[in-house]
Amino acid sequence: MSLRAPKGTDDILPPASRTWRRLLRAWDLLTERYGFDYVATPIFEATEVFARGVGESTEVVEKQMYTFEDKAGRMLTLRPENTAGVVRAYLQSGRSGVFKGAYSGPCFRYERPQAGRRRQFWQLGVEYLGTDEIEADLEVIEVGYQFLREAGLSDLELQINSIGDGPDRLRFNEVLVEWLTARRDQLSVDSQRRIATNPLRVLDSKSDAEIMEESPTPLEFLSPAAAAHYEALKAGLVEREITFREAPRLVRGLDYYNRTVFEYVPRSYEAAQSAVGGGGRYDGLSELLGGPALPGVGLALGFDRILLALGDRPPARALDVFLVVADPDRRSEAWAFARRLRDAGIRCDLLAGERSVKAQFKAADRRDAAAAVVIGQEWDQGMVTVKDLSSGEEFKLAAGDLPSWVRGTRGAET
Ligand code: AMP
Repeated sequence: MSLRAPKGTDDILPPASRTWRRLLRAWDLLTERYGFDYVATPIFEATEVFARGVGESTEVVEKQMYTFEDKAGRMLTLRPENTAGVVRAYLQSGRSGVFKGAYSGPCFRYERPQAGRRRQFWQLGVEYLGTDEIEADLEVIEVGYQFLREAGLSDLELQINSIGDGPDRLRFNEVLVEWLTARRDQLSVDSQRRIATNPLRVLDSKSDAEIMEESPTPLEFLSPAAAAHYEALKAGLVEREITFREAPRLVRGLDYYNRTVFEYVPRSYEAAQSAVGGGGRYDGLSELLGGPALPGVGLALGFDRILLALGDRPPARALDVFLVVADPDRRSEAWAFARRLRDAGIRCDLLAGERSVKAQFKAADRRDAAAAVVIGQEWDQGMVTVKDLSSGEEFKLAAGDLPSWVRGTRGAET
């Protein structure tokens, strides 16, 4: 039997998993502060949720879905993204009105694996349903921007565009197809094929970037209402002091978008898979799924790519203190002390079973504790000996003062 995880998937283990946990927690807290409730939808859905929602002619649906038939003959697909599932869940619940949901979890796409392009990858996202007000677009963009900055990606470029509404896109598509057809021979094979299936995607084709610099753009075809929406978006971003770049050829891989589209690109991250996240407005998605008219706007951040872009940073300590029980008779008191520390929010652990002091110090190092705390003779006076494992400094402290000492030394890393 092979002990390797399937191609394109990763095990998330310490120390990297500590950054995962820290950032996932930060995501939960941030979205909660912005009033997004938590949502979790199934990891698989009926295939048609994605086929209809994401779009039959998109690369994701055409080539990348993990689709299977269950024992009763239902066609199911591992979710390649979350938006279609969240909108399906909202419709199924019979809700109406505004709904703000935040999620995090794995998605699946059958891709050629490389750094930042995995077959199982994690997305963090929000969906703001039930309003087409520009403030919703702005808030979605802001929450992603805040998170990426909090995570440590300060050198970030927000790229924005508007692809207009359905009729604008139809008019634009016609002109674009004509323009592309006239230059067919100069285009890559993929783009040639897309002229018929998904011409909008040729706009941001990497291999045809040079030719496409001259192409018409959706901005030139916006209706007055869509153009006003785009102007309000830009003004709102300026007001919020979120710097952005207009990217008139930015489109997104999924069909359901209209009007606002955006991506976050870290400037320092030069790899080919450059966007760490993106999103946009999808006022037509509910109807594609057979629901009523329901405007919405959302974003999805690629968690794996965020971690890649952050690069190798010194991993956070796993524990604040590791208890070293120097006197075996005090083991049960040590466990009770550990519980008091944990109750006080201190990350604390100790070894199970009776072990030598040396073995316990070794474990403290291996477990990446910031300090070893020795429970020995001085315990009778309510004291412990603390050894700071970074500096090697050693001193005695009243056991009751340990939590505040830990908080004072912890710094920003947790
Ligand atoms: P999309 O809606 O396809 O643009 O996906 C949103 C974000 O998810 C992207 O900006 C990426 O950061 C991330 N993402 C998409 N596909 C993958 C993948 N195969 N591996 C890792 N991250 C991905």
